[in-house]
Amino acid sequence: MNGKRALITGYRGQDGAYLSRLLLEKGYQVYGADRAGDSGQWRLRELGIEGRVQELPLDLLETSNIIDALEKARPDEIYNFAAQSFVLVSFAQPVLTAEVNAVGVARLLEAMRKAAPEARFFQASTAELFGSTGSAQKNETTDFHPKSPYAVSKLYAHWLTVNYRQAQGMYACNGILFNHESPLRGEEFLTRKITMAAARITKGLQEKVAVGNLDALRDWGYAKEYVDAMWRILQQPEPDDYILATGEVHSVREFIGTAFAAAGLGLRWEGSGLQEKGVDQDGKVRVEVSKEFYRPADVKELIGDASKAERVLGWKARTKFGDLAAMMVDSEIRRMEGKKVEL
Ligand code: GDP
Repeated sequence: MNGKRALITGYRGQDGAYLSRLLLEKGYQVYGADRAGDSGQWRLRELGIEGRVQELPLDLLETSNIIDALEKARPDEIYNFAAQSFVLVSFAQPVLTAEVNAVGVARLLEAMRKAAPEARFFQASTAELFGSTGSAQKNETTDFHPKSPYAVSKLYAHWLTVNYRQAQGMYACNGILFNHESPLRGEEFLTRKITMAAARITKGLQEKVAVGNLDALRDWGYAKEYVDAMWRILQQPEPDDYILATGEVHSVREFIGTAFAAAGLGLRWEGSGLQEKGVDQDGKVRVEVSKEFYRPADVKELIGDASKAERVLGWKARTKFGDLAAMMVDSEIRRMEGKKVEL
């Protein structure tokens, strides 16, 4: 034990689970807060930390239970991952998204100001804030032009975190996280959906998969490495905001091709728009495009410049696109074969 206490909201999600393990390894007393009944226990099980995190009920819609959680955990560090984190869902549920992702952070910061003013605060901010700012690498000074209710809600939380730092003198930081993936990613996100489908198709359990915008360009890193950067952000003498990214950009189409190749399925692309298809070496259609997965507005390209994180935090994304896709497919196949997954 190092005597430190951390409170992680949304601790059964991908980042919360990885960070829980990291902090337990460092000797922290870890308090995990989530809504009652949230699924995601499987992540703690696969990471081998089930039962080692002290669980607290928490809903960012309710101020009194935030105060209760702070009083029970008495945290030195708070990491906020609790969110409505699906961009597509946010178009159908903009108000709930704002209540949780935006006003929820106001509730949390205000409760901290009253009940835990000395605690250090990390907000999981997002590359989605940049929206339509063109194709250049984004850094900490790039303007924000959010393009979804999700991104708009996260923009409020981002600036509120900055404001509590500047106006209230609190130690509050944003990590502006570019897409970060792993075998623990939720099944609705592109990378996990694709790597699961590739593994299931090679095993004959699934025929094909339907996706949305193949042309989106993203900067995909490995979540396990990103949580280490988040911890480093809260260890600095002064609070600040940091971009976390790999600096490499690839299309959704490329991710699908790379993941399917890793599963032994060479794809060629035929047609265009909604008619585009990924066809395997036997001529079978394995990937289709469906309107269902298109967003009313999608961000065309996101690529990050994490040189500040490298300079100040000594952090750099090591696992890049090809290795990430191959590792996720391999994990999927191992899971299906009942083998232990490297996490
Ligand atoms: P996000 O960037 O946090 O929203 O992560 P996602 O993994 O959900 O989406 C990454 C990119 O993949 C976005 O540009 C999506 O439009 C694109 N995409 C294309 N097809 C799909 C799909 O079937 N599901 C998801 N989730 N995203 C898709």
